[in-house]
Amino acid sequence: MKKVAIVGAGAAGYFAAIQLCEQFPDIEVRLYEKSTPLAKVKVSGGGRCNVTHACFDPKDLIAYYPRGGRELLGPFHHFQPGDMMEWLDKRGVALKIEDDGRVFPESNQSQSIIDCFEQSLPEGVLIKQGVKDLKPLDNQRWQVIFQNDECDEVDAVLMTTGSSEQMWRLLERLEVPIVPRVPSLFTFNIALPSLHDLAGLSIPVRCRIVQFPEETEGPMLVTHWGLSGPAVLKMSALAARFLAERDYRFTVEIHSLPLLSHDAIEELLHQARRNAGRKQIRNYVPFQFPLRWWQFLLHTEGWSDKNWGDIKKEEIQFCLHQLTRLSFQAEGKTTFKEEFVTAGGVDLKAVHFKTMESKTHPGLFFAGEILNIDGVTGGFNFQSCWTTGYLAARGIGGRM
Ligand SMILES: Cc1cc2nc3c(=O)[nH]c(=O)nc-3n(C[C@H](O)[C@H](O)[C@H](O)COP(=O)(O)OP(=O)(O)OC[C@H]3O[C@@H](n4cnc5c(N)ncnc54)[C@H](O)[C@@H]3O)c2cc1C
Repeated sequence: MKKVAIVGAGAAGYFAAIQLCEQFPDIEVRLYEKSTPLAKVKVSGGGRCNVTHACFDPKDLIAYYPRGGRELLGPFHHFQPGDMMEWLDKRGVALKIEDDGRVFPESNQSQSIIDCFEQSLPEGVLIKQGVKDLKPLDNQRWQVIFQNDECDEVDAVLMTTGSSEQMWRLLERLEVPIVPRVPSLFTFNIALPSLHDLAGLSIPVRCRIVQFPEETEGPMLVTHWGLSGPAVLKMSALAARFLAERDYRFTVEIHSLPLLSHDAIEELLHQARRNAGRKQIRNYVPFQFPLRWWQFLLHTEGWSDKNWGDIKKEEIQFCLHQLTRLSFQAEGKTTFKEEFVTAGGVDLKAVHFKTMESKTHPGLFFAGEILNIDGVTGGFNFQSCWTTGYLAARGIGGRM
């Protein structure tokens, strides 16, 4: 009987083990875990587990992965969010799709996912044992060495140890290329008390970082320490390496009217000057806009006390600048507590994305966060675990 060792019983490893047992019952599967299985699933999504995202076209889906999107296009044609939702549904886990597309168990309890996984894995597969080393053997088999110094010989190894630094070092010793790790998905620290006073305010924005080529759009949330919300978190993921290289000191620019063109905004400001001349600027906003944000944008220049009719044509440019390129000096980052992931891991160039097998080490497979793949917040990180876990199981089964 062929034997497979899966190292790490997180989302990717656990799901791959279930798939292997279901699809290839003739293979002996061993899932090794040094600590608590599915620990991150338990705490994910604030305890609710944002299990995937209701985005069903692989071409659209890959846009949510700052690293790994291109490589995941093929895999998503084999197993995408709809497949995971169907898989859970068939096993009795009712799901709900929230307005923003995030998918959660209807129970609002990550435990529902854990219960389903536990019931789906045959007894005896999960073994509480840490793996300390791996050795390739001559006959394309592998020796797995455990923390208690015992060892086993297997026909394939699937590495699903997430962002374990120790396991990345082990792989480096085996000459598997590893992209250095940097944090992804964090909020921006901005030491500006007048901004902190607006904590809780959420507005749709376009966000850019000076000298970084990409932009993000979406809601931005003001917090007690700076800026957060989907537009900011997405930017933190896109620019993860760029910001790490700058020690998280950078200038962020916020466009507060992303749906309007520059000309349209200018015209609305001129109209306000012409038609609302006697109204105080601080109390009359010519856009659909929270008044508190408007007053924050303008208070710096002492504009607040003026009437619309008092401002000169040239001064409209200042207003335009504040609305479209309001800049903040960020100094540092804060971990986003709902979902923390890292960029970095096994270099994607070293992996066959049809089978998740190493290109240079036959019989060695990868799935989940151990790879240099990360998604923005919204259930995309788990989806990449389900998809790569599913493909690895098929790849291993095909190899046997
Ligand atoms: C607080 C938090 C909330 C999150 N919420 C969400 C969310 O709602 N939606 C979403 O999509 N993503 C979320 N994420 C991200 C998501 O949890 C990860 O992307 C995902 O868990 C990665 O799964 P994995 O199986 O690759 O790795 P992990 O879940 O990290 O699992 C790796 C496993 O390997 C084990 N292991 C490591 N080394 C060894 C060894 N030597 N021997 C044996 N076992 C070993 C570890 O103990 C661990 O159990 C969240 C992350 C955090 C931290």
